[in-house]
Amino acid sequence: MALERLQKVIAEAGIASRRKAEKMIVAGRVRVDGKIVTKLGTKVETFSNITVDGEPIERESLHTYLFYKPRGVVSTASDNKGRKTVVDFFEDIPYRVYPVGRLDYDTSGLLLMTNDGELANLLMHPRHEVPKVYVAKIEGILEPQQIKALVNGVVFDKHKSAPAKVKILKTNKRKNTQIVQLTIHEGHYHQVKKMFKAVGHPVQKLSRERYAFLDLQSLTSGEYRELSLKEVDRLK
Ligand code: URA
Repeated sequence: MALERLQKVIAEAGIASRRKAEKMIVAGRVRVDGKIVTKLGTKVETFSNITVDGEPIERESLHTYLFYKPRGVVSTASDNKGRKTVVDFFEDIPYRVYPVGRLDYDTSGLLLMTNDGELANLLMHPRHEVPKVYVAKIEGILEPQQIKALVNGVVFDKHKSAPAKVKILKTNKRKNTQIVQLTIHEGHYHQVKKMFKAVGHPVQKLSRERYAFLDLQSLTSGEYRELSLKEVDRLK
């Protein structure tokens, strides 16, 4: 059974911020399975009964899904143009899940969906450096010095990209296109498209194949599967 810190559980139930939850605990307002707990950092089990001022807190269980986002779907919870959203694919589950970061409307591939706000914040924090692997079909064929520039960092929006990995998967000289795998740790808006544009090769098609140690495996476009607790722990 999973053990979690008491203040985190109270915060996740939406009662108070973590800091306020800590104050509540220290003030003796919190009981775990009937006993007052004032020690911060006390670990509680998933199904222990927690009350604040005598009121039981409601704990929604946390769920994270690996989703194969199709092209032509927005990565927001709602869209003012009425387009299909990633959330629409999760209508049959009893939790409200949100995307961890974004993929563009015309980008397909691996997107995590979760109702675990703390996990989402952790994964989206720039310091958390999750490796993300994209496959791009680009216009034109990369010159060696352009590959070097992508690897060492290119400038877009006054930002220089962090070191990246580049692997040429396929070159079509006749059509003057290339399929390129790009691994980055950052997640700036339109980052992959902007990186290729910065070296003069616009992206024609983009997909995300991996996120950290996760890949799409046997999922097909529009499908999802729930991550195991072990997989979620490995992401942290
Ligand atoms: N970079 C992009 O340009 N688009 C995406 O959807 C993801 C990364």
